[in-house]
Amino acid sequence: MSLPEVLERIALACQRAGRDPKEVRLVAVTKGRSVEEIRERVLRYGAFPLGESRVQEALKKMELLQAEWHLVGPLQRNKAKFAPRFHLIHSLDSLRLAEALEGVGAKAGMRLRVLVEVNLGREPQKHGFLEEELPEALARVREMPHLEVLGFMTVPPMGPEGVVRPIFRRLSLLADRFGLPERSMGMSQDYEWAVEEGATMVRVGRALFVD
Ligand SMILES: *Cc1c(COP(=O)(O)O)cnc(C)c1O
Repeated sequence: MSLPEVLERIALACQRAGRDPKEVRLVAVTKGRSVEEIRERVLRYGAFPLGESRVQEALKKMELLQAEWHLVGPLQRNKAKFAPRFHLIHSLDSLRLAEALEGVGAKAGMRLRVLVEVNLGREPQKHGFLEEELPEALARVREMPHLEVLGFMTVPPMGPEGVVRPIFRRLSLLADRFGLPERSMGMSQDYEWAVEEGATMVRVGRALFVD
């Protein structure tokens, strides 16, 4: 598929859900892709935000490409010092990481934008807070003056529509309940469901790079 086709599918999903396509941002996930591929398949169509899952790989590409960089993969605390290089961290998954980021933000004299990752599928191998941990975790993070929580992010289990869609719906409901505007959800195989269920950012990789 090409990026314009993905945008078209997002627009159609918005239409089905009665949403304005302007509410949905496409974050192009560029992990494992070369700078040439990124120029050819993403940036020729516009200045889309670029998502990387590993800090080292992102830092290398930042030197070569001007873009709004997002971190979508897990951030280890020993790499927290690189957080200011990213426009948005999608993967705040523990209070210890929040504390590390708060320290980094204070030192840099800036507020770091974050999304809180929620493990709604309750998969042991996945990152993120469990739903019942959110009230306390969110209260703590919102007290940290150098962090700005914009919303939630989730990576659902692999599964059919009947499993994945309710998880997206749940994330939207939680974002509403906590008064948070952003919902980062949906990847190549399920971004249309995510848009129908209220995603404000979809993180699409493979679909942009594989014909
Ligand atoms: C790789 C990745 C994506 C993109 O996945 P695709 O299947 O390539 O669309 C989205 N979010 C996260 C957290 C990822 O690691």
